[in-house]
Formats: sequence, C-alpha cells, structure tokens
Amino acid sequence: MKGNPIYLDNAATTKTAPEVVEAMLPYFTEQYGNPSSIYALGSAAKEAVNRARKIIASTLGAQANEIYFTAGGSEADNWALVAAAEAYAPKGRHIITSKIEHHAVLHTCEYLEKRGYEVTYVDVDEHGIVKLEDLKHAIRPDTILISVMFANNEIGTIQPIKEIGALAKEHGILFHTDAVQAYAHLPIHVDEMNIDMLSASGHKFHGPKGIGFLYIRTGLKIRSFLHGGQQERGRRAGTENVPGIAGLGRAAELAFEKLGENAEKERALRDYLIEKIEKEIPHCRLNGDREQRLSNNVNYSFRFVEGESLLIMLDMKGICASSGSACTSGSLDPSHVLLAIGLPHETAHGSLRMTVSAENTMEEMDRTAEAIKETVGRLREMSPLYEDFIKKEKL
Ligand SMILES: *Cc1c(COP(=O)(O)O)cnc(C)c1O
Repeated sequence: MKGNPIYLDNAATTKTAPEVVEAMLPYFTEQYGNPSSIYALGSAAKEAVNRARKIIASTLGAQANEIYFTAGGSEADNWALVAAAEAYAPKGRHIITSKIEHHAVLHTCEYLEKRGYEVTYVDVDEHGIVKLEDLKHAIRPDTILISVMFANNEIGTIQPIKEIGALAKEHGILFHTDAVQAYAHLPIHVDEMNIDMLSASGHKFHGPKGIGFLYIRTGLKIRSFLHGGQQERGRRAGTENVPGIAGLGRAAELAFEKLGENAEKERALRDYLIEKIEKEIPHCRLNGDREQRLSNNVNYSFRFVEGESLLIMLDMKGICASSGSACTSGSLDPSHVLLAIGLPHETAHGSLRMTVSAENTMEEMDRTAEAIKETVGRLREMSPLYEDFIKKEKL
C-alpha cells in the first residue's frame, strides 16, 4: 500500500475537522464545568451548549428550544418513533415508513410492532424513490406518524420530502425524517417542508461521534426519552456532552458556510468517478437515482463479482469503501435497500458504495477507477458464472 489511504466511506463516518477538535478542547480542559451549576465555570459550559443550539436551529429555520441533543442519529430515530407512538396512541397505532430506512428506524418499527403497533413499509421505485401514491394509499384514520428518510445512506437517493410533508400535514399526521445523511449536506427548512421531527448526527458531517440532535416542533406531545434530571427542558436527562455539543455546533457552522461549495466539489468528483467506471468496466449498474442523488454518493453493482471480495482487495490497495451498508457487513444477507430497488440477490451481493468528501481529489478518483477495473477483472476471471456468460455471449 502506497501513501495515505483513499477514504471513500464518508457515509459511514467522516474525519473530524481540525477546527471542530479545537472548538471541543477547552471543554475537556479549563471549561470542564457542569452546565447546570450556578458558578461561572458552569455558565461557560452552559453558554457553549446554548450557542451550539442556536447555530443548529438557525440552519433549519427552527427555534433554539426545538433542538434536543442526543447521543447520535440512532438515539434520535429511536426517540422520535417510540415517543411519538406512545404519545399519540390514543389517536391510533398505525405508522408508515419506507422499505429503505436505516436500521435505526426499521428495527425501532419492528420493536413497536411487537408492542401492538401496525407499520406499513411502503415500496420505492427502481431508483429508490418512495412512491407517493403508495404512501397516500397507506394513510388510514388511525395513522399517527410517517417516517421517511431525507436521503438514503446506501444509494444516496433524495426523497421528495416537501411533498411527503405536505401530505402528512394535509392529513394531520406527524412527519419525522431521518436526515442523518442530508443534514449539513443539503439545505433543509423544517417549516417549508412541514417536518415535525428531524434526526441528525455529528460524525456524518465532520463533527464528533456520539453526538447528534432531534428537532422536535413546538407543541408536539413528546415525552422524555431518558428519565432523570431536567436537562434538555426535561425531555432528555443526563449531564450534557459539552465538548461533543460544542463540536457539533462548530461542525454545523463550518458545513453551512461552505454548503454549496462543498456540494459542487463532491458532485464533480462523484460524476467523474461514475463516468470512469461506466466507460471502463462492462456489466455494471449505477444504483440509485442519477439526479435526485446526494452529491457524495457512488453505488455500483458489478455482475459476477462478490462485493466483500472486492472490498478486501480494494483495502489492500489502500482504498476504503463499503459494500452497501456497513451494518450488514458480517452478515450474508444482501442489503435490504438494494433488494427494495429490485436487484436480484446475486447482483445485490456484488455492490460497492463509495462516498466522497470535498477533501478527495480527482487523482484519487483516477486511482480508484483503475483499482476497481483491475480488481473486478481479476475476480471475474475466477468466476465460473462469468465464464459461462462469456461462452453464451459468443454463441
Ligand atoms: C449513520 C446513520 C444513522 C445512525 O447515526 P449514528 O450517529 O451513527 O447513531 C442513522 N440514519 C442514517 C441514515 C445514517 O446514515
């Protein structure tokens, strides 16, 4: 392996920005006070928490008191779904979500199903876009919540969030969106999009791990998720993760300063890599929508290739990528997202996700495309299925 690795797994996590680390450090050292304390040391910490809350609220068109800090995206998703289900149970016990949600949403839905709730998992089309007609038809008088992710973590598809929000509002149903991949990557306005709850996570936009937030619209009857002290206006107990919150706020600030610029850089890298792969490697398929797509996402299926083998061989060449979903690696099931867009098991198994950041370079894209070409070629040479396929093609 030559030099630094080429990091193409920014949907799994991102590198913490040096400015973010710098913003966090004082709250480990001099400013270690508890934000709930009365003395000055505590109020400095409290100020840092308030400042981050204000920054984040302003990026969403929300009020500061609608932002609740959590230990990341998974907690925010769990909280939104479970607490909304409990609070609105007197109205009904039906929830609508999509088949391509992150497991933080899907497994929480399964948990709720075991506790007497009914969940409808709506289909997506072959590009991974939720079918609005199906969503509309799924609505019942007892539907209390719609949860659809803003953008998908595997194939990068961006959902018609504004339309879904309007539909939910029209029917008086709460709307939650898992925006972990979208927040700080795309402009989001909670009022214009009629979003009632929104989950985000710091480490997906160059912030620290283990910190995120849930936006909860004023007036929602959401109970506390962690019981204990009065932190987060009595809705999320536990001494605040002050360094994490300070880092989260700084990361949001940095991301929004350069939102358009970073997206443009990423899009150029993404499209260059897509073009190279398409030109140089036969029998492959771009997964996800070409237009309604996160600026950092490239996801390909290569026929006659096993995704895990491809990953390992790319790792040996110093390239960090992922086969669909980091959560499913280690299991033999193909990704639920790739199955939902209609890929046969075999094709789904041969998939590779590469997610860039604005820090990647065109030269890295060249090296990556070259490495994939070489590796896919070698793996196909060893594949009896490929051999059969070539024989048949020649007939
Ligand atoms: C990463 C991710 C999560 C989980 O966030 P954590 O902060 O790692 O708990 C949830 N949803 C989506 C779409 C994600 O990409």
